[in-house]
Amino acid sequence: MDIADYIDKVVLSLVTKAINHVASIAEIHSEIGAVRVMAEELNTLIENGAARHDVAEKSRAVAKIAGAVFGRADDLQREVAQISMDINEVMGSAEDLNAARLKADRENRSKTLFLARMSHELRTPMNAIIGMSELAERDCGRPVCLEHIRNIKQAGANLLSIINDILDFSKIESGNLQITPSPYDAASLFNDVTTIVRVRLADSSVQFVTSIAPDIPSQMTGDAGRIRQVLLNLLSNAVKYTKDGFIKFTVSCEREDGTVLLRCAVEDSGIGIKQQDMGHLFEDFERVDMQRNSDIEGTGLGLSIAQSLCRAMGGTISVTSEYGKGSVFTATMLQSFERGSSPIGDIAGDAAGKNPASARSLGVSFTAPGFHVLVVDDIKVNLKVARGLLAPFEMDIDTCSSGDEALAMMREKEYDLIFMDHMMPGMDGIETTCAIRSLESGRNKIPIVALTANAVSGMKEMFLENGFNDFLSKPIEIPRLYKLVEKWVPEEKRVRAEATRQAK
Ligand code: ADP
Repeated sequence: MDIADYIDKVVLSLVTKAINHVASIAEIHSEIGAVRVMAEELNTLIENGAARHDVAEKSRAVAKIAGAVFGRADDLQREVAQISMDINEVMGSAEDLNAARLKADRENRSKTLFLARMSHELRTPMNAIIGMSELAERDCGRPVCLEHIRNIKQAGANLLSIINDILDFSKIESGNLQITPSPYDAASLFNDVTTIVRVRLADSSVQFVTSIAPDIPSQMTGDAGRIRQVLLNLLSNAVKYTKDGFIKFTVSCEREDGTVLLRCAVEDSGIGIKQQDMGHLFEDFERVDMQRNSDIEGTGLGLSIAQSLCRAMGGTISVTSEYGKGSVFTATMLQSFERGSSPIGDIAGDAAGKNPASARSLGVSFTAPGFHVLVVDDIKVNLKVARGLLAPFEMDIDTCSSGDEALAMMREKEYDLIFMDHMMPGMDGIETTCAIRSLESGRNKIPIVALTANAVSGMKEMFLENGFNDFLSKPIEIPRLYKLVEKWVPEEKRVRAEATRQAK
């Protein structure tokens, strides 16, 4: 039992006793009053020279009732002494319990610190393992070897995601989880997460449907990285636990005086959750229905972290589910927005309801190993997605997360094409392009393709006027990406005939 509960319980019993004793004292008080009246009557009898027999009888009556009052007073004194002993005991136990709690808190803090340090230390070599396997994958020509390297890379990525979860978990435990608000573009956020899900579902029969309310403010302030983390957790779970049918991602909002409550629901027609497991879903390291899910990777930390994140962002997370039919997870978070901010509009575009055709099923007509591409995007997962989508061309792809890094990389290496995100902290895509165009001749002519979630009409013209050569809207649609690659990779850099490629 928790200290507070224990103390509450004992104090309640002491208060009940004290109330009873107050009643007893009142009774004793009135009995003493009765004794006094009888003593006065006795006095009157003696003064009036009453018969000895009457005086004796009255004396006996007074003595009897006085004796009873003394008896009750003795009982009360004993009980009060007992209460005082009880209070001492409670205080002693509270001290013991408090000491035990302090010790447990100290131990918990060291455990949390250990987890935080350990996961932090593990991340660096993990990144190296993943990065090196990526390089090995590029350089390795033998299919068997390639398969092993891909497995290493996948296992590395899984391990890194577990380490990241543990790091977040330790931050939550130690109260160090921070929400860092900054302005962000809502269309980019939702397009990024939906693109990732579409890519994951590329070879699956599960239909991914999105419904993003057009009245959501396009510019909001909040922690976009943390929102992305919550949404990706719910969407990845839906992907993991749904083998056929659909996954529906719905975003709506309720506006109130400069704030907006975002409501993001992920519905799936997957395996569902048993009623008796519903209460455990958000507990740390809790995974349910393990008999059925034994082959699915997971730590049982994702939902607990997502819940803490939603709470830290002034929202909640809830779930309804029917076993065997599917589940709906709904996350809410409070964001602020500028009053004049325009609504997001229709961002579902052509991609709504369609999974991209898989790269494999599309096939590509050439590869270009000697073609050097640089992808610039501040969101790491977008870099991964771009890399994955371009993979069939076997080009030499480098990535970086800012305009400054892009310029530094261009000094070291000669690229043939750049994919440049628009909205980035620091120098944005337009500023970076402008800086590239003012480099020394040769490098300043490189074709630059704008990557943007902002698909409003007129955007393409705006980018072309600002030094870009082409435009690709996010979520990236594979046929458009492929067309664009066909356009920008020159004949002399293309290798392999179509037939060879299709057979691969
Ligand atoms: P995990 O890393 O195991 O997926 P989570 O905390 O994200 O951890 O989820 C906890 C458990 O909740 C999962 O192990 C799974 O049993 C259940 N669960 C989560 N999402 C779904 C879903 N969409 N459908 C069915 N079960 C789910």
